[in-house]
Amino acid sequence: MSAKLLDGKAIAATLRDKLKIKVQTRVQQGLSVPCLAVILVGQDPASHVYVKNKRVACANTGILAKDYDLPIETSEAELLAILDKLNADDSVHGILVQLPLPQHIDSQKVLERVLPQKDVDGFHPYNVGRLTLRMPLLRSCTPKGVMTMLTETGIPLAGLDAVIIGQSNIVGRPMALELLAERCTVTICHSRTKNLADKVRAADLVVAAVGIPEFVKGSWIKAGAIVIDVGINRLDDGRLVGDVEFKEAAAIASWITPVPGGVGPMTIASLLENTLQAAEMRDA
Ligand code: NAP
Repeated sequence: MSAKLLDGKAIAATLRDKLKIKVQTRVQQGLSVPCLAVILVGQDPASHVYVKNKRVACANTGILAKDYDLPIETSEAELLAILDKLNADDSVHGILVQLPLPQHIDSQKVLERVLPQKDVDGFHPYNVGRLTLRMPLLRSCTPKGVMTMLTETGIPLAGLDAVIIGQSNIVGRPMALELLAERCTVTICHSRTKNLADKVRAADLVVAAVGIPEFVKGSWIKAGAIVIDVGINRLDDGRLVGDVEFKEAAAIASWITPVPGGVGPMTIASLLENTLQAAEMRDA
């Protein structure tokens, strides 16, 4: 392996330590403890793991997590009513609704019901719009985490040709806006993109957010490129792998994120940062 590791786990741990001190200082000043409402509907096993990790991270940082574990039969109206209560509750600074929601609930309607000032996932059209206009407030956690990882590592971004594979609302699109704001030249690819391998071969920075194990081949990576693997895929043998052929890509890239231990911990660190930010915005 010639690439250096973008160690999200280590960077996220440092961020959490800094956040813990900021939360302590805030409380010593007589301000409220940042509070995040975490809503999980149903029993999806992957969602359970993600939510558990988020709650543990809150506890370790001094952020209060209010748990709402709702049965799968919860109706859309019941969920919206809970959101209305949380929106009106001044002791709650951030609200997270774990996706995916059961099919009988309209996810977009739910995400838009969260007050933009409490939208710590950064999914509300208001927050996406602010990012689009280069006036971000609460930024989507995964792309924000990627940007923090890159800036903390000191990797210059301006002028890079960036290729993002995946155009989802939660990863690909906001990732493109983040990189554009840093003056990358951004290409967004998706399932209908022609000559994908050639596009990746021309990229100085590749972000893979596809959801297909080892979809991006090592042979597609340009020598010296930066490779960000957002994918989290569990194989039948239980192993977690990303969307990039790690070993082959690491032999040619300059920087690469591991899976696990790359983007995942940065996503959670961004959620904690956003919760503190939401509390600070409320006090301002
Ligand atoms: P998603 O909503 O399913 O989007 C997948 C994207 O990949 C779509 O835009 C799709 O294109 C594109 N795609 C599918 N097949 C393709 C192909 N053959 N060639 C090119 N593009 C293709 O997924 P997501 O929510 O963005 O998540 C992507 C991955 O990231 C998943 O593995 C997920 O688990 C992981 N993830 C990780 C974190 C983290 O914290 N590390 C956070 C969120 C997600 P179309 O739009 O044309 O269908």
